[in-house]
Amino acid sequence: MNYDWDLIIVGGGPAGISAAVRARWVKRDRAVPCSVLLIENSSIGGLAAWQGCFFTGPSWKIEGKEILSRMKKDILKLNIPVHYGRVTRITGRGDVKEVITSGGKVFRSLAVVITTGIKVLVNEIDYLGKGLMVTSMGYEFIVSRTKELLSRRWEPRLVIVGSPKLMNLIPLIRELNRAGAGSDIAFVMEEEGDDGEGKDGSGEIIRGWVESYWGDGGLKGISVLTPEGRRDMLCAGVLLDFNSYELLPTCRINMGDIWSGSSFIEVNRDMQTSVPGIFAAGDVTAGGYNSFSRAVSDGISAGLSAYRYIYHRKFGREPCLFAYRPTDFCLYKGFRELPALDDGLKPMALSGNKEIEEILGKAWGWLTEMLNGRMSINEIISEKGVSRGELTEMLKRLLLKKMITFHIEVRECFPPM
Ligand SMILES: Cc1cc2nc3c(=O)[nH]c(=O)nc-3n(C[C@H](O)[C@H](O)[C@H](O)COP(=O)(O)OP(=O)(O)OC[C@H]3O[C@@H](n4cnc5c(N)ncnc54)[C@H](O)[C@@H]3O)c2cc1C
Repeated sequence: MNYDWDLIIVGGGPAGISAAVRARWVKRDRAVPCSVLLIENSSIGGLAAWQGCFFTGPSWKIEGKEILSRMKKDILKLNIPVHYGRVTRITGRGDVKEVITSGGKVFRSLAVVITTGIKVLVNEIDYLGKGLMVTSMGYEFIVSRTKELLSRRWEPRLVIVGSPKLMNLIPLIRELNRAGAGSDIAFVMEEEGDDGEGKDGSGEIIRGWVESYWGDGGLKGISVLTPEGRRDMLCAGVLLDFNSYELLPTCRINMGDIWSGSSFIEVNRDMQTSVPGIFAAGDVTAGGYNSFSRAVSDGISAGLSAYRYIYHRKFGREPCLFAYRPTDFCLYKGFRELPALDDGLKPMALSGNKEIEEILGKAWGWLTEMLNGRMSINEIISEKGVSRGELTEMLKRLLLKKMITFHIEVRECFPPM
């Protein structure tokens, strides 16, 4: 079975960007880079792009957005393509993983890193401070925050959105609302469910997924996809209960019996899940304190681990990798040499055609069209009638400049590490 990418990263927050960059940016001159696709539902940056997120210590503070602008530059510089869409399914078992989006696109890869954070983001970032409010920083702030909110009347209504753990907060909100201005409140619980009515029969709890927030200048309404169809609701404000997602993430990805997309993922220190070839990093993983720095460091580990896994699958040996990780293996002859450029390899471009042409010269311009990871070296030779020696020399030049990688028929793969 063929595959489109060595590695697919699901989720474009700091963990996903770090994993993508690390797997693609291999420092050793003779390391073979990975082909990487990043898939994001909303915009690149995840929660770290939101106002108020700082990479911080007591005596220094860097705005999340500032770091992200550099990370985004790396994505461009390394030619990492981004596909915008919501991943709904990942097939975890088997040599080749399939990553399927809600738009019906199917991408195939040797490995996947899941970095979906605690929530699928839509366009929240456009309405922060313009009618969209969030709970964060733990439960201790919730009472005073909601009390203050509910002392004012919200016309036509206030909408409160959260994961199923929002249930914890509903009795308190109702009580505070009765004691306050008595606004109309609708709760949106983001979970899979087959009815649109409230669990307590009051009719004000809607089970469904927020599709978008809308309004010119400020927030005027919200669209929710319920089991009965799309529901557009006018509102004066939305309180997004982030605490609930911190307790129970809702990433809406199905991996069959492996992962439902509504729990934290267990990983080891190399960010490897229990399924070979599936890695995870950042807020979606179990047991850590959610933070920008953890997401970046986990993402780097996941990117390097995925690289190592892929290298073993493709070339059956330990990669030559610049990373401070003790790795004990017997040095074999040829370590630090490029793998043999033989017939089973299918060269794939990782740079723009123009850049490749500049290296090869105009006479070899035709080659760029053939670097698609689908034609073997033999097929290129027979199609174009060039000599094996010349072609190999050209490919080696591109490989050393990290402008191409190789795909390989999966049936020829070596067993995993
Ligand atoms: C209000 C707020 C303030 C914060 N302030 C700070 C702070 O000051 N300092 C700090 O260190 N941390 C802060 N944090 C936490 C920090 O932002 C997160 O820990 C960090 O962003 C986690 O990174 P991540 O990549 O794991 O996940 P995220 O940043 O959540 O990124 C995950 C991405 O995956 C995408 N995604 C999810 N599901 C899918 C899917 N099915 N298909 C496609 N894409 C999908 C999402 O849309 C999102 O873009 C704050 C968080 C919040 C909410």
